[in-house]
Amino acid sequence: MMSLRLPSIDGVLRHPACGPLLERHGRESLLAGLRQLLDELRPGVLNGQLSAVEISPEVLAGRVSERLVQQQRSHVRRVFNLTGTVLHTNLGRALLPDEAIDAVQMAARYPLNLEFDLASGKRGDRDDLIEGLIRELTGAEAVTVVNNNAAAVLLTLNSLGARKEGIISRGELIEIGGAFRIPDIMARAGVRLHEVGTTNRTHARDYEAAISPRSGLIMRVHASNYSIEGFTARVPTAELAELAHRHGLPLLEDLGSGSLLDLTRWGLPAEPTVRQALLDGADIVTFSGDKLLGGPQAGLIVGRKELIAKIKKNPLKRALRVDKLTLAALEAVLGLYRDPDRLAERLPSLRLLTRPQADILAQALRLQPLMAELLGERWQVSAVEALGMIGSGSQPVARLPSAALCCRPQVSKRLRGRCLLNLEAALRALPIPVLGRIDDDALWLDLRQLDDEAAWLGQLPNLQVDP
Ligand SMILES: *Cc1c(COP(=O)(O)O)cnc(C)c1O
Repeated sequence: MMSLRLPSIDGVLRHPACGPLLERHGRESLLAGLRQLLDELRPGVLNGQLSAVEISPEVLAGRVSERLVQQQRSHVRRVFNLTGTVLHTNLGRALLPDEAIDAVQMAARYPLNLEFDLASGKRGDRDDLIEGLIRELTGAEAVTVVNNNAAAVLLTLNSLGARKEGIISRGELIEIGGAFRIPDIMARAGVRLHEVGTTNRTHARDYEAAISPRSGLIMRVHASNYSIEGFTARVPTAELAELAHRHGLPLLEDLGSGSLLDLTRWGLPAEPTVRQALLDGADIVTFSGDKLLGGPQAGLIVGRKELIAKIKKNPLKRALRVDKLTLAALEAVLGLYRDPDRLAERLPSLRLLTRPQADILAQALRLQPLMAELLGERWQVSAVEALGMIGSGSQPVARLPSAALCCRPQVSKRLRGRCLLNLEAALRALPIPVLGRIDDDALWLDLRQLDDEAAWLGQLPNLQVDP
């Protein structure tokens, strides 16, 4: 028998099947891909395991094409967030409105007046681009913006309290997630932690007793991702501010999510507004851009002019500043807040958060037969009411009445866990991965955020669930 030989790289390259690949991926990538493939096939050829067809130029071109497409696929992928958590930190938090997307495109494509004052022709300050809007929306005297709220807290503490003591209630020494813990951030900022009161109760006299010539500031952290209930006491911001000012200390309030408007007008749980915190006397308020605000990742620092000026002079500000894309998006999002009556239509996060349960349930009922048919008789699929959450630490105890497709495997208890994991993996393997949540022996697809139903339905026939 005549022994089989691998075609040469040149031989494959000259084949018409490689023409379009050369065009699409360029010579270098194609050569590297081919070389790698041929190296892998060589042993199989030598020991006679491969047929002539398997190493024909057409087949090799096809295989190398698949590989190159796979390699070039973006690692940043769109997903369907059907977890029930709207502002999901791991899934990118708030979705931007069209106005912000247009602004980002413009900022990405063209030069812009990022730090250039068009009126005077002189050098400008990037914070000026949004200062007017933020002052209008919050009543603050001045503003500066950094990379995220963690950066805002770090920068503020370091600017106003380095080498001094920061007084804070033991009930507010929180961990936000990952490595962000208030005591650690204080330490990194060079502020000496002076904790007062107890976990559940802290009184004005506790703060008062801690004040000394070493004090630099009083800090208050909003209980965003936890709640202390029962026998509790906390000093209202207005009273704490009065106390701080009597002793010549600034009061910082980290609102976490914070909100620019009272969310109860949309039936959402009350969240403190930035304006109210400032009215109550907080000297500096920090909050996130991509939580309830519904904008890009950013940390906003607002408050008294002289304190903001001090914060802006800190060299750390330069290290933590935001880029032009963020500022463009932020300005566009803030602009929408000027018309609160239409905000829930225009701001995607608010639209999703306020979507009525009846609406979501109707969608679940409509999609239920399809999903049931697709999963077959091993699964019971039902359209049911469900409870979601805001996410990103906002209102952890509040639940959003929602609706879901609840997929329950009809198998013995022993096999249930595996079945659920298989379905979860199959949904994740779809062209646009679908993320749900497993709870109570079922996989839940919360439909609050399924607004692109066509794209979702279009890819479902690709679902391959292992039995
Ligand atoms: C979320 C949060 C932070 C951190 O904000 P990021 O924008 O995620 O950096 C800080 N403090 C509080 C109270 C928060 O809720």
